[in-house]
Parts: sequence; structure tokens; C-alpha cells
Amino acid sequence: MKDVKIPAIKKELVSCKFAIKEVEINVSHFGRLRWNYVPIEGAYRFLFKELSYNTTKIDLMLLEYVKDCFISSNGGNALIDWTESFKLIKNEITTSRNVANREDAATRCFRVKNFLKILPTYEVLWMRKVWGIPSKKCPRCAIEEETWDHLWICNKNRAGDTESEIFKASLDEVLSQNVDIMDKDQKNQWKEDLWEVAATKSMIMGPENLIREITRGLINEKWWRTCKIRGQCKVLKDIFDVYLKKIQMQIWNRRCVETIESERQLGILKDLKRKKKRVDDGEEMMEKAEGEEKSENKKTRKKIKNIIKINLEENKKDDVFRLGIRDRKSWGSKVISNLVNT
Ligand SMILES: [Zn+2]
Repeated sequence: MKDVKIPAIKKELVSCKFAIKEVEINVSHFGRLRWNYVPIEGAYRFLFKELSYNTTKIDLMLLEYVKDCFISSNGGNALIDWTESFKLIKNEITTSRNVANREDAATRCFRVKNFLKILPTYEVLWMRKVWGIPSKKCPRCAIEEETWDHLWICNKNRAGDTESEIFKASLDEVLSQNVDIMDKDQKNQWKEDLWEVAATKSMIMGPENLIREITRGLINEKWWRTCKIRGQCKVLKDIFDVYLKKIQMQIWNRRCVETIESERQLGILKDLKRKKKRVDDGEEMMEKAEGEEKSENKKTRKKIKNIIKINLEENKKDDVFRLGIRDRKSWGSKVISNLVNT
């Protein structure tokens, strides 16, 4: 047992199973774990699963990639419907969970990288020191740096391919497919409501609006408030799904075709990009400085992680004895707001 690495709270529960009185006595008080006075064995398994699931969740939330969504979001993360967002990112709106095919894999791959902002833009490739990448500058417009945000506003995108145009097209496309839960007036009213939400400022993505959140796969709770007719939520999910497909096809894929073509002309080929690394002048000095910076970052991260783990475990302990109170969802923001105040 000692050699196995298990989360502290689980370890504690396992080792004190017989020693802690409350645990033994309160078992019968776990209303949820009984059905017709018969204890449900599986429920305990479920409980432990929930606990380890939450530990994993915290690990994910601490990733540098999603810093802006959680740690630095100033509580904005509480406004995101994470369950639905992850469904959208994992392409589970139209494709069922146990289906896997090439198309689904490609969509999922794009959406996950897109969410983490690690699509191979020139900024990302430059940081990775990929051979042949001359700078962070956008290979198409050569004006701005090609960051994740630039992808969507590059002036080399086709004229109709702005986020709001694509959103509008997705909206029209889905609503024109016999959606019979709404009549014409209701559809128009809903469109107006959706546009109003679309123009709201995002709490997570700086000066951008809620459409930019959808571009990343994040569904704000505000969208659901426009759904007053039964079945509208489902239609809205389809709209988001169609939107992301269009974003991928019309903006990202097109960008890639154009970039590959211009790279080919410059002699930057896929193989070379994969195998070779860029060598900078004064490389060694840079690396040293970078190394120091990295270890500094690592220390801070470790510190944050510790604070959060302690915090979470406090919450977990509490939760074990209050099953049935569904406040787990808000933990993230609770933990984070505590952290901010520390
Ligand atoms: Zn550009």
C-alpha cells in the first residue's frame, strides 16, 4: 500500500476506515447510497471515482495552457458551462462517444489543440524552434504576429470569413433545417436574442466578445438564458457545432493550404521542419536564461498547486459527509478565489 501513490484524502479514508467513528456510523446516513433501505454497493465505488476525478480535474485546471481560463480568469470561469464546452470540444454533439473514425479524430484533434491554443501557428512553431520558420510573423499577411487570436482576424482570410459572418451563416443553416419547435416569429426573436448575447464582452478572453469564446469551444452560461422553448438548447448546441466546423474548414484549413504552398516555394518542406531545429546566435546564453526562468516558473506552479490541493482536500472531506449537495461544480472558482486572496 505504501508504494502506491494515491491522493491524500483517499489514502486517509482507506487507512482510517475503521478508526474514524463518524465514517462507520454515518454510512447509514448517506441517504443517496441506499435504495429502499438496501445499501447500494456501487455507490461507494462511484464516490471514490468522483474523488479521484476531482483530483485529475484540478491537475488539468493547473495546466499552463489553460491558465487564462482558470487561474488568471478572475472568476470568469464560473460563467462557462464546462460540461457542455468539453462535449463540444470532444466532438460529442453529433458523434457518439464510442464512435471513432478519421473524420471525428481530425475534428477532435483540431478542437482540442484549438482550445489549448497550440495549433501550429508561426508563434507556436517559432517558440518550438522549428527549422525554416523565419519569425513569429504571419506567413500570409506578414504584418502581425501569427498568434491564435490573429488567425481569426488575418486580412488574408476570405472576405466573408469573419467570426460573426460564420456565426450568422451557422445560425441560418441550422434554423432553416426543419426546426419545427419554433414558428417564424419565434425564430426571428430568438436570433435577435442570440445576437445580443453574441455581442456581450467575454470575461475570459479580454476585449473579445462571446463569439470568440465559442471559437475556442467555450460555451458561456449566458447562451442558455435565451432558450425559453423546449428543445432550443439542443438546437443551439447544433449551431455551435456547425460554427466550429465552419471555423475549421473555412479559416484554419484554408490557412494551412496557403501556408504550405508558400513554404513549399521557399523550400521549407514538411520533412525538414520535422527533423531540423533552428539554431540561434548566442544560443547558449539564451538557453541558460530560459532555464532559470523555467525553474522559477516551476517553483511558482508547485506552490500554487500545493495551495490548491490543500484547499481542495478540505472541500473533499466536507463533501464526503454531505453527499447530495451538488456544489462540486463551483469548486474551481471557489478554490481559485481563495487562491487569489491568499
Ligand atoms: Zn495574417
